[in-house]
Amino acid sequence: MKINLLEKKEEKISFVVRDIPVWFANAIRRSVSEIPVLAIDTVEFYKNDSALYDEILAHRLGLIPLKATSYLAERDKCSCKGAGCSKCTVKIKLKAKGPCTVYASELKGKGFEVIYKDMPIVILEKDQELEAVCEARLGKATEHAKFSPGLIWYNSFPLIKEVRKAEKTIKVDKEEFEKIREGKSKLIPDLLNEAVECNGKFLKIEPSEKDFIFFVESFGQFTPKEMFILAIKALQQNLHELEKFLRKA
Ligand SMILES: [Zn+2]
Repeated sequence: MKINLLEKKEEKISFVVRDIPVWFANAIRRSVSEIPVLAIDTVEFYKNDSALYDEILAHRLGLIPLKATSYLAERDKCSCKGAGCSKCTVKIKLKAKGPCTVYASELKGKGFEVIYKDMPIVILEKDQELEAVCEARLGKATEHAKFSPGLIWYNSFPLIKEVRKAEKTIKVDKEEFEKIREGKSKLIPDLLNEAVECNGKFLKIEPSEKDFIFFVESFGQFTPKEMFILAIKALQQNLHELEKFLRKA
């Protein structure tokens, strides 16, 4: 296995992993849905004079990315056996009076942090009031998308081959042709399974079956690097559980 970094930004990274089977790349990709993430799970409304129904507001609140600031147990593994207690639940209050736009920064409580404080939740007109108490807990995206920490996906690495002849080609200029040949053209990801032509010369761009470009994009709860590592750990944990089960069986 060989790895090299392509791009690293605050919210996303990409890198090439060579010489791995496709099922392995896919297992890592899918394991992103097994990372425990904090999100609002239940909302009790005391006042809601806004134009939005309680259900729509609750849905919006659930999708606000949150981060636990101290250790939080997963509810199903907590000593409360799923009933909900301070070890596995974060209480969040929301109180506002119009005229105003209610932002995510108005979610108040201990043990959590709002990642994007300027996310609008609802607009309140004059004298309209909103009062709610929410409970947030850790969950996994396999259960609901609101528990997703971001996205991991991959493309096959493009293999560029010079060929004598090709049908159905895309004509490019000399400069672009050279860039493609050197693997430096930005067009390459869109040219998989295509052939390009310039002055009677041909290049075929074929997807590799064992080299992949991974893209990791975070919604803010973790850095992309942490997210990828957590996905791998979640996969390891699942395999470990399976092993434990089979040893006992
Ligand atoms: Zn608990």
